[in-house]
Amino acid sequence: MSHRRAAILSIGDELTLGQTLDTNSRYLSQQLVDHGIIPICHLTVPDDQPAIVRALRDLSRAADLILTTGGLGPTADDLTRQALADALAEPLVEDPESLDAIVRRFRAAGRDMPPINRVQALRPRSAQAIPNPHGTAPGLCAQLRPPANHSSLPTSDPPRAHESRLVDVFCLPGPPHEMKPMFETAVCPRLRSDRIVRTLAVHTFGIGESDLAARLGDLMDRARTPTVGTTASRGVVSCRIRAEGETDSGAAASLERAVAETGERVRALAAPYVFGEGDETLAGAVVALLRASGERVAVAESCTGGLLGEMLTRVPGASAAVVGGWITYSNERKSADLGVSAALLARVGAVSREVAEAMATGARARAGVEHALAITGIAGPEGGSEAKPVGTVWIARASGPGRGGSAAEVETRRFAFTGMSREVVREWSAMCALGMLRFALVGASGASLIRERER
Ligand code: AMP
Ligand code: MG
Repeated sequence: MSHRRAAILSIGDELTLGQTLDTNSRYLSQQLVDHGIIPICHLTVPDDQPAIVRALRDLSRAADLILTTGGLGPTADDLTRQALADALAEPLVEDPESLDAIVRRFRAAGRDMPPINRVQALRPRSAQAIPNPHGTAPGLCAQLRPPANHSSLPTSDPPRAHESRLVDVFCLPGPPHEMKPMFETAVCPRLRSDRIVRTLAVHTFGIGESDLAARLGDLMDRARTPTVGTTASRGVVSCRIRAEGETDSGAAASLERAVAETGERVRALAAPYVFGEGDETLAGAVVALLRASGERVAVAESCTGGLLGEMLTRVPGASAAVVGGWITYSNERKSADLGVSAALLARVGAVSREVAEAMATGARARAGVEHALAITGIAGPEGGSEAKPVGTVWIARASGPGRGGSAAEVETRRFAFTGMSREVVREWSAMCALGMLRFALVGASGASLIRERER
C-alpha cells in the first residue's frame, strides 16, 4: 500500500519547553513532499512515555506512515524504544548486531561501552534496527496496527478497515546530523507513493505581498494548476509553485515542465524583484552578480553593526567579491575611518542623506573597489525624534571604476521601517542595501523598494 498520508512526531522536553527549535520536522516534511507524500501533521510531545504511546496510536489512525525523531539516547529520559514497544504491545529484545555496532563504535574511540548504552541495542520484538553510522543510537522500523478507537486528527478519508491496515513507523535519532543520513539511506528507499509532486519557490525582495499578488493576477487562482501561493518572511516574498500528479501516468516530465513554465511567468511578472529560487539568498544573488562582472563591494555600517557584512560573507565564494568594510557606530569612527567631516555630522546629524553619501564615497575610495554600501539609521527602541523617528534609515550606494578613483555614482534612499523591533529594522536595513546593489547590477536602479520614502 502506498504512503499517502504521513505524520511526523518530534519527541523531547527540549522541544516542548521551547529550548530547541524543531528543525527535524521541517527537513522531513520537505523530503516527503519531494517524494510525493503530503505530511498531514506535525506533533511534538515531551519525554513522557504515555504521551509518546498515545501519539503513536493517535497518528496511526490518521496516517500510513509515521516518522519520529528523538528519544533514542541511552538515558532514562529517552523513551521512544519503550513507547514503540508499548504501542505494539510487544516486549523489548536485544539486537545482537546493534549491540556489536555500539561496542565497536566505542572501541574505535578508544573506550569501553558504558553499561548505560546497552539499552540502545534494544528493539521491540517485531521491529528492525536501522544502523547509525554517525552515532550510537540505532533507528527503528516497525509496522503498527491502528487501534479501533476514534482519532482526533484530521482525516478526509472514509473510515478504513483498521484491522487489516498496517502503518509503517520509522524512529530516527534526534540530532539532525544523525537523523538526515539515516532518513536518506534507510527511509527513502522504503517510501512508496502513488503521487508525484513538483515544487518551485521563486524569491523576490523589495515588493510587498499584496503588490506581488496583484501582479500575478489569475496565476494565484486556487483552481489553477500548478498552484501558486505566496509567503513572506523578513522582506523576502516567495512564490511557491506546486504541481501534483499520479506516478504511473508518466507525468514527471510534464509536471516539471508545467512548474518551470509557471516559474518563468512569475519571473516575468515580478521583474525586477526576483532574485533567486530554492535555497538562493539575496546576498548570494548579489555575490553571484558581482563575481560575474568581476566587481567588488565594501561596506560601511552604522546601525546594522556588521550585519550586512555578515550576510555577504556568509555566501560561499564571497571572497572574490567582498573585500570587507567598517563598523562606524560612533561619529568619531565615521570621521576617522571614512573621512566624514565632523562639521557635516554636527550640521545634519549622523542619520542623514549627506552622511550616508559621505560614508559610501569614503568607503569606496578607501577600499579601492567598484561599489560601497553605507547604512546609517535609528534602529531603536530609543533615539528617535519627531523629525527622525525610530526606523528612519538612510542607505547609500557609491559605484564607479575600482582603484581609478574617478567620480563615483551615488544613489541614496531613505527608508521608514516604522513599527518594527530593533532586530527587524537592522535586518531590513541590510537587506535593502543588498536590494539597492542588486538593482544597480541588473540595471534596475529606478525600481523602488518597499518602505522606501525618499531619494
Ligand atoms: P535524542 O537524544 O535522540 O533525544 O536527541 C537529542 C538531541 O537532538 C538534542 O541535542 C536536540 O537538540 C536534537 N534534537 C532532537 N529533536 C530535534 C528536532 N526535532 N529538531 C532539531 N533538533 C532536535
Ligand atoms: Mg531527547
